[in-house]
Amino acid sequence: MPRPRVYRTEAIVLRGSNYGEADRILTLLTLKQGKLRAIAKGVRRAASHQGGHLELFNHVETLLAVGRELDVITQSEVRHPFRSLREQLDRTSHAYYLAELVDRLVEERAPAPEVFALALAGLQALDRGDEPRLVLCQFQLRLLAASGFGPELFQCVGCRAELRPEVNFFSPASGGMLCPACAPAEPLAYRLSLGAFKLLRHLRRTDLSEGARVRVGEAVSREGSHAARDYVECVLERKLRAPEFIARVEGG
Ligand SMILES: [Zn+2]
Repeated sequence: MPRPRVYRTEAIVLRGSNYGEADRILTLLTLKQGKLRAIAKGVRRAASHQGGHLELFNHVETLLAVGRELDVITQSEVRHPFRSLREQLDRTSHAYYLAELVDRLVEERAPAPEVFALALAGLQALDRGDEPRLVLCQFQLRLLAASGFGPELFQCVGCRAELRPEVNFFSPASGGMLCPACAPAEPLAYRLSLGAFKLLRHLRRTDLSEGARVRVGEAVSREGSHAARDYVECVLERKLRAPEFIARVEGG
């Protein structure tokens, strides 16, 4: 079905770079069309009223016109400005990481309303001052689950037995948790404390609006956060390698 010549959609500004004398090229996560790159013309001119609407991390309502290479943002209105995400360093760095993850995991023009809702909830949680490390940890687990790459946290990925509340092992390369009996066979698996194990399971199961309210010590939060990040890196590496691998096979 051909795309309509103009369309209206909610969007989150994931990235932006200056282009030409007064334009900006933005990477948007839109509700209707998934991730896409679009051009905002003239927004760096002082007289432009659109410029402020299209700042990084803003949640906006936009009207886009289909262009030959890039669609053109013709109108925009701010839904949530998330100003604190640009003004408070700790929140800014976490918001950047969130946006980068979405950018790397989501394919262009593949509608992903669940990812949109998660990204919005994540930015809202950071903006209202929830513990950024826990927000990101939860965001990663939920994002991976929504994309079909979530780690297995309830059954051992080796023997499929239900995991017990004890020290189990985490192996991103094998897809999740290993029970103490299976762990020795996987050299890259590492111990996960019971606290971190419970934290990951809790964050995976709860909503971003409540997840980061859990009270955990610094060490447990660090451990859980490292595990989530390791897992994301592992997924991204596999994803990055796949096209290269295919190209190599095709090249003979
Ligand atoms: Zn096992």
